[in-house]
Amino acid sequence: MEGKTIEKSFDTQYLKDYLIDHGVKPSTIRIKVLEYLLKNRIHPTAEDIYNAVYEDIPTLSKTSVYNTIDLFLEKNIIQIINTGNKESRYDIDTSIHGHFSCNICNRVFDFDIDSIEYDKSILDGFIINEQKVLFKGICNSCK
Ligand SMILES: [Zn+2]
Ligand SMILES: [Zn+2]
Repeated sequence: MEGKTIEKSFDTQYLKDYLIDHGVKPSTIRIKVLEYLLKNRIHPTAEDIYNAVYEDIPTLSKTSVYNTIDLFLEKNIIQIINTGNKESRYDIDTSIHGHFSCNICNRVFDFDIDSIEYDKSILDGFIINEQKVLFKGICNSCK
């Protein structure tokens, strides 16, 4: 499934509670970044986030966006996707799922990895801290 922009609006109290539940003290920038991420399920880059939030907060600096992203990563509000090309992408969906990155349009699509069969026996007893599945290629609209 391709990421979508959600029309629904989130009220400020919901956004504040979301941050507090993740151990983050709400601030205007953090609330705006969170709202953008919840509404735009497109695996945005830091630049995308900056450009969108800048419209609401003209005094916004790139550093504060990067600091907010770092904090959100640390608090598990978002996960990072390294597609190997250009900038990192960020995902508000921290559940385990696979990503397909299109080499042409650079869009990143989500897919379910529960159904992928692989031999796990080689990892018996290993401690797995992260599961990242990245497929790369050309999406249907770019083919
Ligand atoms: Zn494409
Ligand atoms: Zn995703």
